[in-house]
Amino acid sequence: MTIPSLNIPVAEVRGVGQKRSALLRSAGIETVSDLLLRIPRRHIDRRTMAPAADLPAGTETTVVGTVVSAGVVPGKRPRFIVTLHDGSGRVDCVWFGGVKFLHRAFQKGDVVAVGGKVERFGGRPQMVHPEFEILASEEDEDRLHTGRVIPLYPTTAEMKEGGLDSRGLRRAVRAALDAFLGEVTDPLPERVRTQAGLMPLPDALKQAHFPETLADAERARERLAFDELLLMQVVLARARQRRATEPGIAFSGSEALTGPLLASLPYALTRAQQRAFSEIVADMRRSHPMNRLLQGDVGSGKTVVALLAALVAVADGYQAAIMAPTEILAEQHLSNLRALASALGTPVRLLVGRMPAAERRRVSAEIASGEASIVVGTHALLSEDVRFRRLGLVVIDEQHRFGVFQRAGLRGKGVTPDTLVMTATPIPRTLTLTLYGDLEVSVLDELPPGRTPVRTAWRTADRRPAILQFVRDEVGKGRQAYLVYPLVEASEKSDMKAATEAFEALRSGPLSGLRLALLHGQMKGAPKEAAMSAFQRGEVDALVSTTVIEVGVDVPNASVMVVEHAERFGLPQLHQLRGRVGRGAHASTCILIADPTGDVPLSEEARARLEALVRTNDGFEVAEIDLRLRGPGDLFGARQSGLPDLRIAHPVRDARLLNEARQAASQLIGADPDLSAPEHRLLREMVDWRQGKRVDLVGVG
Ligand code: ADP
Ligand code: MG
Repeated sequence: MTIPSLNIPVAEVRGVGQKRSALLRSAGIETVSDLLLRIPRRHIDRRTMAPAADLPAGTETTVVGTVVSAGVVPGKRPRFIVTLHDGSGRVDCVWFGGVKFLHRAFQKGDVVAVGGKVERFGGRPQMVHPEFEILASEEDEDRLHTGRVIPLYPTTAEMKEGGLDSRGLRRAVRAALDAFLGEVTDPLPERVRTQAGLMPLPDALKQAHFPETLADAERARERLAFDELLLMQVVLARARQRRATEPGIAFSGSEALTGPLLASLPYALTRAQQRAFSEIVADMRRSHPMNRLLQGDVGSGKTVVALLAALVAVADGYQAAIMAPTEILAEQHLSNLRALASALGTPVRLLVGRMPAAERRRVSAEIASGEASIVVGTHALLSEDVRFRRLGLVVIDEQHRFGVFQRAGLRGKGVTPDTLVMTATPIPRTLTLTLYGDLEVSVLDELPPGRTPVRTAWRTADRRPAILQFVRDEVGKGRQAYLVYPLVEASEKSDMKAATEAFEALRSGPLSGLRLALLHGQMKGAPKEAAMSAFQRGEVDALVSTTVIEVGVDVPNASVMVVEHAERFGLPQLHQLRGRVGRGAHASTCILIADPTGDVPLSEEARARLEALVRTNDGFEVAEIDLRLRGPGDLFGARQSGLPDLRIAHPVRDARLLNEARQAASQLIGADPDLSAPEHRLLREMVDWRQGKRVDLVGVG
């Protein structure tokens, strides 16, 4: 979102020089509008804070205090101890390791906030490895940082290293408000604003950062959240209106190809698959474009449903495009679809970014001539040089990755084709509305028969020898295993290194003698495909990989999955990973390795994630727990709603606002479809900005 009157380069804010504006830019903050809309992650209200000395052991809390002393206590395990005085008494914060970095971070006299669990040690309150944030140092002359309600900002490691921590952001925001707040014009028509009971925009911008009370901060956030939701809903309302009049393709629903496919399958469709497919065919026969979401847990059999839909289009002489989020998944789809469609004589082609230029040209030509009936690919399908002759159906397999779909691009390439979006994430209804607007939804709520549920266990790292022995045993019985390593840092390189090192160590150590293969995101197409297909053919016993296998890979003979550092994964991601096993008739096991008491203790949230997975296999339940866990939650952590378009609004928590925004949007668009009235000018600018800035997530058209 942007506020049109604040589209001023952030470098014009007093105190933000070259260096800082570069740092801000790297965090996506380019304008004053961006800066002011990056609202605090959280506020601390010092007036209502209980003194640490009075808290019972085990309480999760935030303490604000002044650093009395900071230093290393030598010993077998050197510790770094920071002692704070919070007005009532002293609190010790203790770290094992990381001493150098911490030494630089804390100065005597600093005012800091620390968050974590209060314990007792020798009668004194103590926090081990708390999260922390420096609020003010002694030489700060403006004490705005230590006022009564203190805003805490999300910062990236890069920003912190460059000297732009939460404190620096606070100063920049204050300066921006002082200089530019007077220039803000509220884009919301007065009537809409009062109807929804919202603050005027200038007030909201101020109170979102520097409120008098926490309640004011929340009301301010609601106002800004409403604007975000309204924009989204306006885009949807316009799309809805357009779609109502837009001609689509009325397919005949021919069974010329689907009939033979169904007859050739080694299994019968589940009832859920039959229902979903007939809903899809009914949509496809209508003369306006289909817009349907196919929702089904990992392993519920979405692929064959997608293929059936594609064949309905192909039977009428149209082409179908199937878009996957990663190359591995696209390749996997290709081989699955080819296997299924081979008997039908329907050509299936692949188009991905890393293809050699000549091959790509050849496939593009086949797409343009219409010779390629079904085209599987990645985002490469959206590039300029790809022109379909007669695109009839677009299937977007986005697995659990919310919001990555870019329908606009593919849609531009012919008459409006039908669209089917597939997701493995069971999405609550409110979220469906937010993300997908008016999509119709089909649900695969039934797994194919004969599956044994995956048993999930959480183990500590010291059990690794026994776990690897278990892997050997399973391989001894003819099964296969996945060993998954997490992202080490936010870089594919180190990611690759972790998996590569583990691979070497396993090969020469605990798994020697087994046939191992390595798979990571930096591998080129050919070796990657070679590793995957060798695993698929059963020529590899254990696949050591990074999370590239997370999506879609289908090897029914694999019965063990071991996930290292499971605490670093998100809940949906672990559930997806786990879905790679338990796909055949064999009893399968997923072992999550995570240490509750390592150098860095597990957060409550990580613990809850792991426990949830051990407890349930049900994707819907997992999704619900995930939404709950990711609610207001974590102290200084980055926002992780997973919705790139919503920075301020929370699609579940703000359900009431969402409804109001929907109503307001339909009224606005009903009365003024192009927002051309003078009082809608700013709103119109915001909508245009939003549509120009990024390919629309929510299904334009
Ligand atoms: P997902 O929904 O995760 O994409 P897939 O489409 O990959 O699931 O299907 C998972 C596995 O189930 C595949 O091996 C597929 O062949 C198999 N399968 C799909 N439908 C059925 C069915 N009705 N009966 C038995 N097996 C099925
Ligand atoms: Mg799939």
